[in-house]
Amino acid sequence: MTPGPVPVPQNVLDILAQQMEHHRTPEFMSVLARVWERLKGVFGTRERVFLLTSTGSGGMEAALVNVLSPGDEVLAIVSGKFGERWAEMAQVYGAHVHRLDIEWGKAVRPEQVEATLRSHPNIRIVMTQACETSTGVLHPVQEIAAIVRRTGALLLVDGITALGALPMPMDAWGIDALVGGSQKAFMLPTGLSLVSFSARAWERIETAQCPRFYFDIRAERDANENGETFFSSNVPLIKALDAVLHDFERLGQARVHARIATLSNATQAAARALGLTSFAQSPSPSLSALALPPNIDGQKLRAEMEKVHRVIVMGGQDRLKGKIIRIGHMGFIRDEDCMATVTALGRTLMHIRPDLFSDTQVAAAEQAAREELAASPS
Ligand SMILES: *Cc1c(COP(=O)(O)O)cnc(C)c1O
Repeated sequence: MTPGPVPVPQNVLDILAQQMEHHRTPEFMSVLARVWERLKGVFGTRERVFLLTSTGSGGMEAALVNVLSPGDEVLAIVSGKFGERWAEMAQVYGAHVHRLDIEWGKAVRPEQVEATLRSHPNIRIVMTQACETSTGVLHPVQEIAAIVRRTGALLLVDGITALGALPMPMDAWGIDALVGGSQKAFMLPTGLSLVSFSARAWERIETAQCPRFYFDIRAERDANENGETFFSSNVPLIKALDAVLHDFERLGQARVHARIATLSNATQAAARALGLTSFAQSPSPSLSALALPPNIDGQKLRAEMEKVHRVIVMGGQDRLKGKIIRIGHMGFIRDEDCMATVTALGRTLMHIRPDLFSDTQVAAAEQAAREELAASPS
């Protein structure tokens, strides 16, 4: 029940167990072409969506190095661990990085972005997470995009825990580079990143001076035009992605998103019944980050949930270590998995602090979750 990697559905596991197929066969090349087309629907774009063999961070790097020139002024919205990552990466590649530091647990306000861009008119790139997975916060990407659009800057969005979990229409909102990763809402193992660039970004790509080789998106585009990937295709994960995208299409994106929202609502309702609050002030449906009372050690809580109840959730990173727990709502999660998580959380809290948590509360949490789950079809 972590916010990535996530449980993988059985039909996808069956595909991953198949014999290796060569990436130059007509069979695989037709799968590749179909996946590229299907991904456009998830990204909400008419542009190409690239499939890179890397973790999500590789996709972030691909988005950045293809539009950056050393010395460029860039704005990094930093509200947690993944924001830090992009800021650090830009630094390494010689950018002049302006940080907009946001208190962890809060979302950036559009006027903060506007003010920063006004005081630094030479900023050429703005980088943000859609969902900052380390804090569970959802940023107002649409509003940020509208502000960045009015300047000459490009907006790069790490949508790794947003794509496939909530609407993130790249063209309609005016996002210039959007990044996804396989092990989050795409319900696959780790190892594929997905990235797409706007027409505005493509103009920048042609002149960007940052050295790049593995992630040179121009080479990737040229190969894609011939129906191939630049390097060997990640055949098993791409075939598995095809199956996931087939299911997304069959259900419709609205239902896929609604399922994640239901799991989030159930978990948040249960947490409230237990007296826990959301750490994130504007929570993303893709995960719940729950604040723990100061007298409860998150590390101990997680260890016991895993050992006794066989439920794995994540803790906080860095300064949030021991202070929050994070429960993922992406991937193959059944109602009973959600209920087992609620029960494990309630029982464990009660076991650690019988003075603070009661049987009645745990029963109320289970009931609250059950009602949310019953309110919408799985
Ligand atoms: C998971 C995640 C990443 C990518 O992490 P990798 O380990 O490189 O796959 C990046 N950004 C966010 C917001 C994430 O949730």
